[in-house]
Amino acid sequence: MEQITAYKCSFCKKINTNKSTIKTHEKKCFFNPETKSCATCLWFSPLIVESVGPTRCFLGKVKEVPEGSKMQLNTQCNNWMDQKIYSNQETYYNDDEMEEKLVSGDVEYFKALKN
Ligand SMILES: [Zn+2]
Repeated sequence: MEQITAYKCSFCKKINTNKSTIKTHEKKCFFNPETKSCATCLWFSPLIVESVGPTRCFLGKVKEVPEGSKMQLNTQCNNWMDQKIYSNQETYYNDDEMEEKLVSGDVEYFKALKN
């Protein structure tokens, strides 16, 4: 038996024994908020879209694909917004109410969330 050292992406479950492979991966990992990808985006959050059908981009930045084919997710998207804005929020609103406000795109509401 041999003991090995492996490296894990800080953002997803990817593991590799080669440190530089993981280092390179992390820079483009879809779960790294810095890549502004669907995986961490508020507008792609199942929390919001669950009620209106299959998971999709609420801003229409990800095109609907025919059933059975793989969805092409975005990265480095200009409209990306951190979904933590939603999950970090103390819920003095109930979830439905908050979803409604988010989906309405009320600019003032977003400013308040960011503070
Ligand atoms: Zn990763």
